[in-house]
Amino acid sequence: MYYQGLINKYRKYLPVTDSTPVITLNEGNTPLIKADNLAKKIGLESNLYLKFEGSNPTGSFKDRGMTMAVTKAKEAGAGAIICASTGNTSASAAAYGAKAGIKTFVLIPDGYIALGKLSQAMMYGAEIIAIQGNFDRALECVREISEKYPVTLVNSVNPFRIEGQKTGAFEICDALGKAPEYHFIPVGNAGNITAYWKGYREYFKEGIIKTLPKMMGYEAEGSAAIVRGERIMNPETFATAIRIGNPASWTQAEAARDESKGKIGCVTDEKIAEAYKMLASTEGILCEPASAASVAGLIQANKEGLVEAGTDIVCILTGNGLKDPDNAIKYSNADVKKTSSELDDVLRAMGI
Ligand SMILES: *Cc1c(COP(=O)(O)O)cnc(C)c1O
Repeated sequence: MYYQGLINKYRKYLPVTDSTPVITLNEGNTPLIKADNLAKKIGLESNLYLKFEGSNPTGSFKDRGMTMAVTKAKEAGAGAIICASTGNTSASAAAYGAKAGIKTFVLIPDGYIALGKLSQAMMYGAEIIAIQGNFDRALECVREISEKYPVTLVNSVNPFRIEGQKTGAFEICDALGKAPEYHFIPVGNAGNITAYWKGYREYFKEGIIKTLPKMMGYEAEGSAAIVRGERIMNPETFATAIRIGNPASWTQAEAARDESKGKIGCVTDEKIAEAYKMLASTEGILCEPASAASVAGLIQANKEGLVEAGTDIVCILTGNGLKDPDNAIKYSNADVKKTSSELDDVLRAMGI
């Protein structure tokens, strides 16, 4: 049957009725890719799967939450939506806002958003406000604005975002016929780990899966508020999508960790960069730097002996690497050889 987005696919598990005006770009239904080359390279004795969320319509998992949040905003008759964003939320909100015919305001930290994400928000026609402050400050601003003015907040503190995002867990279980034993995921504002845990628990309660995964969340070391147990005032990492020092879903992330007997750890920028390059060169998958934190976390956890052999492991690759061409070029170390257009010169450049 023609796929019509995750609300139509999973409507039974979502807060919609037959009269809800579904705003969809046919998000979801993303590939779960078996990654044998990478598993071998990192010495893993388990089945490794990568959930490539970069193949969503705007290139990140944010579309899963945004189809729900904007659908519910439309149903409630909202005239405008607003979000704070490290980039992907703004791209997604702007796209779904355009589709719904709702005005979209986005607040971004000036200078810390990848070029592709900014270009998306511009093309989709959002009202873009770049503040001299980080994501955490931008989120404080939009929370206050949405309380005082008639504009709907579509950050992941909006519960409909979590509802949409939990469908990622449904898709993984539908594809594997069971839950994985381990679920590795980057942690920024911590909405996504919250959503996946909710999804797994709902499928468990329905009896569709018999076991639950250990939730393994990874922050960037320079922004590791949950790991350190305190708000980071000046979060740093080149993985800008997780450059967040005061995660909004902090307590829910800790609950996911504790209830699943999992872990929330952190990985250095160096290890994130290594995983980012390895994914591209061994599996042909270009994700964005923040996404690679899940794989960097797996490599670290495996070294620490936290990963049991013979299991199924899923790493969430949250966004598409094409959004951040500057980092791709910077970290690839590729050497582009320039020559004349003479065949002899081209052959020489090829090393023949
Ligand atoms: C938003 C985002 C994250 C972080 O997700 P949270 O729900 O904020 O923890 C990670 N990677 C990418 C690419 C993102 O866009």
